[in-house]
Amino acid sequence: MLNPKDTKILSTSDENILIAANLINKGEVIAMPTETVYGLAADATNPDAIRRIFKIKGRPQDNPLIVHISDFSMMERLTVNVPQIAYKLAEKFWPGPLTIVLPKSNLVPHEISAGLDTVAIRMPSHDAALKLIEESGVPIAAPSANKSGSPSPTTANHVFDDLNGQIPIILDGGSCKIGLESTVVKFENEEVIILRPGIVTVEDIKGYGFTVRLASGVFEPPDNDAPIESPGMKYKHYSPKARVILVDSDIDEFTKYVESNFSDGDFCLIFDSDSDTMRLPHLTYGGDSREQAEQLFKKLRELDKLNASRVFVRCPNKHGIGLAVYNRLLRAAGFEVVVIE
Ligand code: AMP
Ligand code: MG
Repeated sequence: MLNPKDTKILSTSDENILIAANLINKGEVIAMPTETVYGLAADATNPDAIRRIFKIKGRPQDNPLIVHISDFSMMERLTVNVPQIAYKLAEKFWPGPLTIVLPKSNLVPHEISAGLDTVAIRMPSHDAALKLIEESGVPIAAPSANKSGSPSPTTANHVFDDLNGQIPIILDGGSCKIGLESTVVKFENEEVIILRPGIVTVEDIKGYGFTVRLASGVFEPPDNDAPIESPGMKYKHYSPKARVILVDSDIDEFTKYVESNFSDGDFCLIFDSDSDTMRLPHLTYGGDSREQAEQLFKKLRELDKLNASRVFVRCPNKHGIGLAVYNRLLRAAGFEVVVIE
């Protein structure tokens, strides 16, 4: 017998999207697929629904949510004084995995923006997400649909593992194509500042003639005395239960280091090409940065299922899409990196 409190996993048929849209309009919280990761979705204009998102996730109140839109008129209702540069950037990358931080209008509940005077907005490219926003007719706030702190979900089953019994439905759009959260940017005058790196890279944005800079929090642990540019940067994040140790070296040095530190219950997370020579227990997370982005969270969750106590991770390259993978691993590791030159 199905427990009535069990969360249902539904396909993204038109009929199910209607069911989901009705739930959103009633102020319920549900899970939806996007091209980046699964989102925990609710009506962005309903403060009660937003408070429930924070409660279900166990998310700290001062970590703001991204609002998902399906057309520019929604953006206009949610914002004021949008600079021209924002439209130029949105035209290039929307719909897609880029989030833009803008001055907010009074329509945005303060719960969403965690007390800031800005709101983070994205137009996703996933069909089911766009249809859900259109059907419900409201902008949808959606952080990743995981328990706060754990790796973001990239399949409906990941969401189920974290949130079964706490939400009525999960729309199952299959495995997320990208697998990492969106790139988050803000503007300072004519400069694009990257607050969180993602699949839209520094190079992609520069390629359209923009001036781009990475916020210091992308690489560094937070300084408690300094003002934070993006509240999400201050938490240990994306982390499996195992302790993650990021090892920055070539495969020979990596192997030597791990062999001399290895205990029972430990695992390695390495590149596909390392697998032939590795004799210790390991999983692989892809051959290039694109695959690593897609597989990282999935593999961190698998390591939890294997009860890994520690995971030695082969450090990805730090350029292009690799930078986004590195950024998530830095946080998963609580900034613990072993560098072997
Ligand atoms: P998540 O919902 O887990 O993908 O995280 C969303 C992230 O977007 C937050 O952790 C922040 O880093 C960023 N963000 C959301 N709203 C704002 C904002 N108003 N200003 C700066 N960063 C924001
Ligand atoms: Mg998240």
